[in-house]
Amino acid sequence: MKRYIGCDLGGTNLRAAIVDVETGAVLHQLSIPTLAREGHEAVMKRMADLFLQVIQSAGMQKEEIGGIGIGVPGVLDLEKGETLFLPNLPGTWPHVPLQATIAKLTGLPVALLNDVRSITNGEWLFGAGRGVDTVAVFAIGTGIGGGLVINGKLHLGIGGTGGELGHITIDYNGPRCGCGKYGCLEAYATGPAIAAMGIKAVVQGLTTRLGEMCEYDLNRITAGLIAQAARTGDEIAIDIYERAGFYLGVTAANVCVAVGPRRIIIAGGVAQAGDLLLEPIRRTLRERVSVMPVEQVEVVQSQLGDNAGVIGVACWAANHS
Ligand SMILES: [Zn+2]
Repeated sequence: MKRYIGCDLGGTNLRAAIVDVETGAVLHQLSIPTLAREGHEAVMKRMADLFLQVIQSAGMQKEEIGGIGIGVPGVLDLEKGETLFLPNLPGTWPHVPLQATIAKLTGLPVALLNDVRSITNGEWLFGAGRGVDTVAVFAIGTGIGGGLVINGKLHLGIGGTGGELGHITIDYNGPRCGCGKYGCLEAYATGPAIAAMGIKAVVQGLTTRLGEMCEYDLNRITAGLIAQAARTGDEIAIDIYERAGFYLGVTAANVCVAVGPRRIIIAGGVAQAGDLLLEPIRRTLRERVSVMPVEQVEVVQSQLGDNAGVIGVACWAANHS
């Protein structure tokens, strides 16, 4: 069986894609609102209906689908097939038997994986990580997720919890992070953290085009707008990306020392800043690592965009469901 369903369980949208796991092609997909407020029982029922619907609307039979992979935004117990803590979903889904429930409702084998480990698997197999055996991924959006491939294998650790690169400590006296601990990378270099640096610059009255660009409506300052300003030569905006890249670079330096990746992939919405963000990461790596051949480590942008997760988790299901 070569076709599997990859699902992205998001706080806002539920997406299901039929993936050819030999080529990484997304053959067909559907997306519906998650309506997470209705609670996990209702959401699981909607997921199962969506899976049956995506098969039908692709003109396929259930027998042609090898299984379902679900990318989950949070902490899982992969051994039990349960969700443990999904911070962005109401109720946080403690000990919800997601794997068994969806298997029962659909009659198909099911595998779970953390959403950013799903992206990591997708980019490694069919995107920016192709052809190398050790990869680190930083997925930067409203938070920072991570994932590792080590010696040709997606790294899992205890119950699949290994690879949370956004929660590496970069300042032990630092501010509180969304995870409840202090000084994690995530407190410094997310989309909102970058936007906050822009807002602060405007409020302080620094010489930047950002104020004009958002028509002095500070809510409109985003990481994307700051990237736009930086591309026109705005020095404050360039400096903000330098700082975010420095924090990412310090973290990536620690990852280089720990696992010796051949490639570091920057994914997520903030990665669209491209070299504005990648160059300071590369520079910081060269400055801060000496015990491994850091000049051989490539720092690249992800390639599969929004499809990385569904492709990666469908391929995971092909090997684990
Ligand atoms: Zn944290």
